Formats: sequence, structure tokens, C-alpha cells
Amino acid sequence: MEAFLYDKLESGAVKCRLCGWRCTIQPGKRGVCNVRENRNGTLESLVYGRAISYAVDPIEKKPLYHFHPGAFTFSIATVGCNFRCNFCDNWSISQERQIVGDLMLPEEVVFNAQRMKCSAISYTYTEPTIFFEYAYDTAKFARSEGLLNTFVTNGFMSPEAIDMVSPYLDAATVDFKGSADPAFYKNFCGITSVEPIFDSLLEMKRKKIFIEITNLIVPGEGDGKEPYKKLLNWILDNLGPDTPLHLLRFFSSYRYEGTETTQPSLLEEYWQMASDAGFHYVYLGNAPGHKYENTRCPSCGKMVIERFGFEVAKIHLTGKRCAFCGHEINIIL
Ligand code: SF4
Repeated sequence: MEAFLYDKLESGAVKCRLCGWRCTIQPGKRGVCNVRENRNGTLESLVYGRAISYAVDPIEKKPLYHFHPGAFTFSIATVGCNFRCNFCDNWSISQERQIVGDLMLPEEVVFNAQRMKCSAISYTYTEPTIFFEYAYDTAKFARSEGLLNTFVTNGFMSPEAIDMVSPYLDAATVDFKGSADPAFYKNFCGITSVEPIFDSLLEMKRKKIFIEITNLIVPGEGDGKEPYKKLLNWILDNLGPDTPLHLLRFFSSYRYEGTETTQPSLLEEYWQMASDAGFHYVYLGNAPGHKYENTRCPSCGKMVIERFGFEVAKIHLTGKRCAFCGHEINIIL
């Protein structure tokens, strides 16, 4: 399928405008993501309708804790990614060089979501930006059928892509790694600038897309306190203290196999820093049963959503308000 958002150059090359790489691609070549190819001066998406992975997930698994808690979402992915993270949990599909996957066109994705009683579709597991045309057409059709759409993204998108999908995109989980430390992104993800991620967040905010943020704390090079403080300040200044923030525990995988797991005590220290900085909703991820999985009312401190892992155990809300003190919670129901 012909790609969206690219320019044809006089030389026969094309310039893709989908993500922060903004690749110039010569005839016969592919972009960094390996799933967009210049065929005789036309940029083609090679993964349209090719679902490599699909499953029903609790929306909490994305993670989205403040967006339709307890809902189920139909999750899909294609192969490919615009990052090269050494520690990728889904490396077998994100770094797959062959274009493989089951044929599942947008209408079938929506049909499957409805059949499985899901109220949303999530574009996830790999980076949705690189299968943008597939995600866009699916999201548009899903919206017409009354379903919600969410992206789980590394945020390295272009503002043009966000602008285009925004009429159909309800929520996004934007995943940071190593607290957005530029050196960490360069050495462990192959990314030379983190600025496009922050630009994306601002564009999502402008488009009123509901945002939750994760930060994967990788022990060693990815657990610096200074970059973390900087990230906290940026989020507070630009998105506000009501932004849900998930601190994710790292488990070794891929080229990082055999390395240390993030200790819960370190995550708790980071939790405290965010809390002291003024964040109202901070969570520990990949730590089932931990007390910081629950949502507490920022005003009275009582528990308004009780969770265990990805399961919602109890909700103490009256509409969007705390059932105990009436404080309005930043939540979409
Ligand atoms: S999506 Fe990003 S990585 Fe892929 S071709 Fe376009 S600009 Fe390059």
C-alpha cells in the first residue's frame, strides 16, 4: 500500500515524514524501520494488514490506569520498529527483518475486537508509528463502530502523524526508557535525539489525546537520578501533576539478557521522588501486588481504584469523583 506522509524528491528518492528519523530513502531501499520501501519513487508500507501479534488484553496492561479502567482491548502489531533497543522485550517481532504476519485487514481487526467483547483497539507490542497506515485505517473504522483507539508508543512520531491520526486516537501510552537520558537513548536504543518525543507529547496534548507516561528504569546506565529529575520537571511543567506516571521494573531480555533486574527498593525511591515533586498518580509497573499499583485520591488519600496486577479489584468513584471526598480524579470513564 502507498504510504502516507512522504515527499517525492526529484532524484527519485523519497522523504518519509512519519517519525523523528525523517528518512530519505533511495529507490529500492527501506527506511530505518525496515517496513517502508521506496519502489520506483513511491513509498510503500510493507506491513499493511500483516498482523504479527494480536491478543485481548486488559487496558491496564498497556498500561492505561486512568482510561476506562477494567476495559478489555484488542491489541495488534506488525513487525518492525524505528528504535533498536538492546533490551527490547518484544525484540523477536520488533527487530524481525522478514515481512511476516497473518493477513488481517482493518475490518477484520474491528470485527475480532467486537467478537471478543473489547471496547478498544490498542496498537502496541511494536511501534505503531511504523504501521501507521494500517493503524489509521483500523482506527477510523473502529471509531465508526463505536470502539476506542489507543497507541502504545515510544513517542518518536512526527507532529504530522499525530495531527493526522488525532481525530480517531483516544489515548496514548508514551514509553520513556532510562528517563529520557540522551546518552542512554544513543547507546542503548540507537536514537540520536530525544526531542521528537517531547514534541509528540506537546502535539498530543494540543489534540486532546489522553496521555499516560511510562519510564522504564534500567539498572546501571538507565537509572540516573539527574535525567529522571529533569524528566519529572518537564512533565510537571508541560503536562501537569495529574499525568499518570508508571515506573516500570526492568527484566533482562534480548541483548541485555542476564543483567540485573530493577530492585523494587529502587523503584520505590523513584516513586517517592515523583510524589515529592508533586505528581498525583504514580505507579509501579511489573510489580504485581505492590501497594503502588493502586490509585489514591490526591485530596483525601483514600484508595479510589484497587488493583492487583492488571486486574481492577474495586472502584470507589462517583462518576469521576472520589467517593469519599468528592475530589475530581483525572480519569476517562
Ligand atoms: S517511519 Fe521513520 S524510520 Fe520508517 S521510513 Fe519513515 S521516517 Fe524512516
